[in-house]
Amino acid sequence: MRFPGFFAWSAFLFLGVAQFFPSLRAEISFTEGTLGEGTRWETPFHVIESNHPGPTVLITGGLHGNEPAGARAAEQIRHWPILRGRLVVLPRANQPGLRAGTRHLPKLAKEEADLNRNFPRTGADDEARSVIGQAVWTFARKLKPNWVVDLHEGYHFHQIQSKSVGSTILASRPGDQRTRPVVIRMLAAVNATIADPDKHFVPLRGTANGSLTRAAAERLGSNSLILETTTREQPLSLRTRQHRLMVRALFENLGMVPKDALTMTRPQGELNLRVALYDSGGVGGSGPRNVQEVMKAIPQSLTWRVGPSDIREGALSHFDVVIFPGGSGSKQAAALGIEGRRQVCTFVERGGGFVGICAGAYLAAANYKWSLKICNYKTFCEAREIPGVGRKSMWYRGPSSTVEMELTNEGRRILGDRAASFPVRYHNGPIVSPAGIDGLPGYQVLAWFRSEVAHYEPQKGTMVNTPAIITGAFGKGRVLSISPHPESSKALRSMVARGIQWVSGN
Ligand SMILES: [Zn+2]
Repeated sequence: MRFPGFFAWSAFLFLGVAQFFPSLRAEISFTEGTLGEGTRWETPFHVIESNHPGPTVLITGGLHGNEPAGARAAEQIRHWPILRGRLVVLPRANQPGLRAGTRHLPKLAKEEADLNRNFPRTGADDEARSVIGQAVWTFARKLKPNWVVDLHEGYHFHQIQSKSVGSTILASRPGDQRTRPVVIRMLAAVNATIADPDKHFVPLRGTANGSLTRAAAERLGSNSLILETTTREQPLSLRTRQHRLMVRALFENLGMVPKDALTMTRPQGELNLRVALYDSGGVGGSGPRNVQEVMKAIPQSLTWRVGPSDIREGALSHFDVVIFPGGSGSKQAAALGIEGRRQVCTFVERGGGFVGICAGAYLAAANYKWSLKICNYKTFCEAREIPGVGRKSMWYRGPSSTVEMELTNEGRRILGDRAASFPVRYHNGPIVSPAGIDGLPGYQVLAWFRSEVAHYEPQKGTMVNTPAIITGAFGKGRVLSISPHPESSKALRSMVARGIQWVSGN
């Protein structure tokens, strides 16, 4: 039976759209298709039809598989409810490359491996190379878009390292004179959010022979741009946001979105779990990557990276759970700022789930000026005099190590059954005890540390048999604080996945 499903989907879209623009009820339609169907290059495209006259804009991402921000931004932009015209999005053009993290189309000969050199070259026949290149080109020719905007990333800031095209907007010829005024607005919009002038986006003229935008400019008369963010030392959420800011400026100019429209909107579709994963200031190492691996175990789920600007814009309201991984709790708090922290607390109070791992568990605590105070525990962090060393804060217990952990009965119920005691990676996570704050419910212990690590003498005996994982309620929401790093062990990822699902209330 196909029809009941189809009607459920229509009803869902109807509600989803009504949420954004009550006046546009049911006028916007979201449909999907596939390019390269039945091949290993198979990849979805999305058509967002406003049903009001206006331009056709094609947004492409992921032509290079090692440039994730473009693919992610395109995937987010496809959920924008547009006011006029038609938005067509191909978020993951080089799907196998994105999965493998490689620039090129995997396993192809050199001359057709770079998807963004596979399109008809200047003066040559109107033929594209490679299966997916041909599929994309046939698709673009049929579409005849007024605009083609291809989202990429460079390795360095162009103003600092001129060999890289990072942080630029490249306008394809011919037509670069025509697109120039809009490019200036797009640059102004993104540069207004960047403090360091050396990291500002700058305009460049011309795009590579064989690129999608150049072929579209020459053969379809499209206004064609390549947007390039910079991967170097910048979180994925920031780069993704920069792409969205530039595209929003273009759409504002085309009358396709209202002024200052949200750049992150609620993801449409039949999803069981929408997770916001914080990856910005105060996050260190492989935390976000490991959490993404955890999320793969949860069917019908989606994980979007968020940073302080997204959170301050109110983006958490689109999600069921926010996750703060390892790093530094105080630096995460500083990056969020007062308004960001308020947004996180409000999100949980209204029923959102919070998962804090190591640094994220410090962030949720009740005992710091900067902490969120959404769970009723304090951390063992006071300074002690160490003979011959000086005054030292007790949170530091040395480099990453392995300790033993044991689930409680409630822990087994929520996180899944496990043997009596098992090893888990530990790296200076909080040692917690009740904070006794009035009006905040007490926490429940889901797991105990059954061994410990100590760097200073006074730490000995203060970790073993203290809580490793706890949970508490805050308003209508649930908080899960995890002191160690189960997400970095393959064997424990399903346990973390259960915890994330549990705090979502699903
Ligand atoms: Zn690229």
